[in-house]
Amino acid sequence: MKINVLQAKKAIGNVQTFEFVTSAEELAIEGETPWKSSVIYVEGKLINNGRVIAVEGLVSAKAQYQCGCCLEDFSANVEIPFSDNFQQVTDEASDNEADLAFYTGDEIDIADLVRETLILAEPLKNVCSESCRGLCSQCGINLNIAQCGCQGKLIDPRFAVLQKLLK
Ligand SMILES: [Zn+2]
Ligand SMILES: [Zn+2]
Repeated sequence: MKINVLQAKKAIGNVQTFEFVTSAEELAIEGETPWKSSVIYVEGKLINNGRVIAVEGLVSAKAQYQCGCCLEDFSANVEIPFSDNFQQVTDEASDNEADLAFYTGDEIDIADLVRETLILAEPLKNVCSESCRGLCSQCGINLNIAQCGCQGKLIDPRFAVLQKLLK
C-alpha cells in the first residue's frame, strides 16, 4: 500500500489524496476477524507539514460479527479513522520520537498503519442491535425471533418444591 509522495514533498502545504481497495488477506490479517471476507476500502490524504508528512484516512469495511447476546451473525458497515506522521529517514540522525512513523525515499507505505487500525478496532461492535433481547436462559430460544413461555414460569426452585407438595 505504497504512496509515491514526490508531489507532496515538493512544497510545504502540498496535499495529495490516496485510495486503495484491499482485503484482510492482502494486509496479512489472519484468523477469524470481522474483515475476513470483506472488501476493505482505504482512502485519505497526506499533507506536507514541513518536517513530517501527515497522513489522515478512513478505512471502511462491511464487517461480519457474531452477536455476543443472541449469537446470530450480523454484518455492519464500519468506518475507522486513522492518522500518523511520517518522517523521512535521511543519513543525518533523525529525531527519535515515538509518535513518528518513518519512510525512505519517495514512498510512504501505509499497510502497517491500516493493519494496526483494523486490529485495534476489532472489538468495536459485538451486539447486533441496541435492543437485542438475547437468548432465553431457560430454553435457549432467540428472543428476537420468537417468544417462549419460560419468562412467566420462572420461579424460585424453593417455591417449585412447595408447589409440588401442594398438588
Ligand atoms: Zn443479538
Ligand atoms: Zn424460553
